[in-house]
Amino acid sequence: MPHQIIVIGAGLAGLSASYELLRAGMDVQVFEARERVGGRAHTVQLNAGQHGELGAEFVDDNHTALMTYAAQFGIQLDLANKFPDDLYWFIDGSLRNRLSLTTEQSAALDNLYAKLQTLIQEQKDPQQTLDEWLDTHSIAPFARWIARLMASSLFATDPELISIGFFAYFAGIGNSGCNMRVHGGISRLVDALAQHLGDRVHTSTPVRCIQHTDDTVTVNVETATGLVEVTGHSAIVTIPWSVLRHIPIEAPLTEIQREAISTLPYGGVVKTLLQYPYQFWSKPNFGIILLENNYHAIWEPTSAQMGREKILSCFSGGKRSLTLSEQAGELAVAAINTLYPDAPEIIASRSCDWSADEWARGAYCYFRPGDLHRFNPHLTQPAGRIFFAGEHTAPVEYRGYMEGAIRSGQRAAQQILSLLGE
Ligand SMILES: Cc1cc2nc3c(=O)[nH]c(=O)nc-3n(C[C@H](O)[C@H](O)[C@H](O)COP(=O)(O)OP(=O)(O)OC[C@H]3O[C@@H](n4cnc5c(N)ncnc54)[C@H](O)[C@@H]3O)c2cc1C
Repeated sequence: MPHQIIVIGAGLAGLSASYELLRAGMDVQVFEARERVGGRAHTVQLNAGQHGELGAEFVDDNHTALMTYAAQFGIQLDLANKFPDDLYWFIDGSLRNRLSLTTEQSAALDNLYAKLQTLIQEQKDPQQTLDEWLDTHSIAPFARWIARLMASSLFATDPELISIGFFAYFAGIGNSGCNMRVHGGISRLVDALAQHLGDRVHTSTPVRCIQHTDDTVTVNVETATGLVEVTGHSAIVTIPWSVLRHIPIEAPLTEIQREAISTLPYGGVVKTLLQYPYQFWSKPNFGIILLENNYHAIWEPTSAQMGREKILSCFSGGKRSLTLSEQAGELAVAAINTLYPDAPEIIASRSCDWSADEWARGAYCYFRPGDLHRFNPHLTQPAGRIFFAGEHTAPVEYRGYMEGAIRSGQRAAQQILSLLGE
């Protein structure tokens, strides 16, 4: 009998793991709680045939696992932003990028990045939050402001919560290189993987409990006709630990794994898409604008799309995002009006609060002081026949990215194949 593998979750981690296992001749069944596949990768349609992303959007130029899948499925990537030119900060009423900062501001940023780089080179994970570290490392006020803004706009959390050790890994972002978008939307890649798996993917089937024995893994799956017990030889759990902590799991987990499952924090994000009838800004490329507002980052996802209409993506991260609720749309319009007081009325909008989403319960994981190095060795370790994938288990530099989800799925598939001697 072929080795039967249960995959829990059909986000990019679950789909990549299943795709690799299927290609290696394994028998896979994927259970997904939502009516759709893709999880935190979710393309939505607006008016005039245009689309936007309510979840993941950008592909960085070192995201090679994603690029390889895109190439395999004949999916094109469009250039989105070139750095440092296209990253702007809204400072004292005007837009500045790295090239238009004052000498003093530039020197302050260089000093911040150099100190963060040292932390990475020395592989340090000090018992300090970003805020505490900024207070004790002679960082100039301008660079402190940028660092704090990055905590909300990139990490979806707050400077008094995130560990400086984790923050340091991403600090150089926006300094050089470029990022891209999947032409036609990230759901095209998700759908290509899911199509390959065919009827092995079961949507609207939340897993309610996971049980490990010496020879099998059994999961209770909720279906339209009631709870069904499914048994396999092994399982890959790809759901965020913010969700897993609410599911009974009987397995030989280490104490640290149990602690990480119960406590690993997830930042909050509200992402709002506003569609406008025409372009009202004069810059040729809108770029990414970071600002201190209810929304922390704004960009234009329609640069490679047809039509006179334009969409702006508005991203609110951290504790501020938790206060927006039903006013998310209005507050996004207000944020745009701060930058462009003459903006026309919107013609459509869509919004998603990822903290309120039952199957995500947050946007992506971050680490508290000291936890990065403590949790790291345990995140990818199997618990008997149960394997773990998902962005939170990816190599640290890809955590919080689609690339991390894909790499983690591929790694979990490889762990099973190695065990079977394939
Ligand atoms: C607002 C936002 C913006 C982002 N921007 C970017 C970006 O620009 N670039 C980038 O690379 N990444 C970005 N990310 C991160 C990226 O979306 C994630 O890292 C990646 O999609 C995670 O994939 P995953 O498979 O690990 O998890 P998920 O996509 O969350 O997949 C897990 C799946 O498990 C399902 N599930 C949950 N509970 C159960 C259950 N009990 N039973 C069965 N199924 C269950 C969920 O429905 C979900 O489909 C962003 C994320 C958010 C939220």
